[in-house]
Amino acid sequence: MLIIMQPQASEANIENVVSFIEKQGFTAHISKGEVQTVIGCVGGKTIDKRNIELLAGVREVVKITSSYKLASRTFKPDDTVLEVKDAKFGGRYAGIIAGPCTIESEAQMEEAAEKLAAIGVKTIRGGAFKPRTSPYSFQGMGEDGLKIIKKVADKYGLAVISEVMEIAQIPLMEKYVDILQVGARNMQNFNLLKELGQINKPVLIKRGLSATIEEWLMSAEYVLSGGNEQVMLCERGIRTFEPMTRNTLDLSAIPVVKKLSHLPVIVDPSHATGLRDKVAPMSKAAIAAGCDGLEIEVHPHPECAICDGAQSLTPDDFDKLYSDINKIAEIVGKELK
Ligand code: PEP
Ligand code: MN
Repeated sequence: MLIIMQPQASEANIENVVSFIEKQGFTAHISKGEVQTVIGCVGGKTIDKRNIELLAGVREVVKITSSYKLASRTFKPDDTVLEVKDAKFGGRYAGIIAGPCTIESEAQMEEAAEKLAAIGVKTIRGGAFKPRTSPYSFQGMGEDGLKIIKKVADKYGLAVISEVMEIAQIPLMEKYVDILQVGARNMQNFNLLKELGQINKPVLIKRGLSATIEEWLMSAEYVLSGGNEQVMLCERGIRTFEPMTRNTLDLSAIPVVKKLSHLPVIVDPSHATGLRDKVAPMSKAAIAAGCDGLEIEVHPHPECAICDGAQSLTPDDFDKLYSDINKIAEIVGKELK
């Protein structure tokens, strides 16, 4: 249920409505827009909406039948903009995340950070806990890796994103990382999502391998309903019958989600295609389609990468791509951050 306040409603009116619905067992989530305030009510028992509509300052009470409420544009008509150090995602900004698939050594991350920062990147990626399909593949450097990525990021003034695979890792991630990534394979790990609803750091939720857009938005709802409003979504390709690319990048998810939701939509063209030569065209297309950021795998020496070398760009390839997407961003009214 959403309570839409009148544009002239006072703070006292809003507080009064919140205390009324909390007494009925609801949790209130407040969205203050440019024009009006909307109060999202989650939980609680069935209530006659007329009792709320009679309260001072209330314009309308809307029952939401969709399975996600706080993620919807009805709750929050304005775009959510997430700011992390110098990076910005959403609204007028497209945040660019780049870096290796996995953290391998300090020398590798130092070289990556130096080159990416010189190009203009504000957020560096690198996995310390890797969700590998085979148990025999490299599983990540763990805390040693997190220490490395934080050290090089601090040196070059970059924000850090890295994947959290389980609840027990959250305190460690909070110590070293600015944005916690939920991998495609964990998109429906509901216990993990609930815990991420309790933290005060942005969470990027990758779309599951075979997840519908509605299922993906419900995963975001888990984090939002826990009280963490800093959520972004990442389209990283879905499973289809087509084996020529690792996955099939669902570019249409960008306008679809942006109409349904206020959350930033990021695109990962690397895991979507699995092949380096497909990354630039898909990145350009995603920016042209209005995404709020890209997450791209870049390795200083892709031929030696422990993980995902074939889909990783060299810093030189990435430099060229960055200047191309900068031009496209300008045409669609976005600024790279
Ligand atoms: C990653 O970004 O490192 C990753 C494992 O991606 P995904 O969860 O999309 O497969
Ligand atoms: Mn990877």
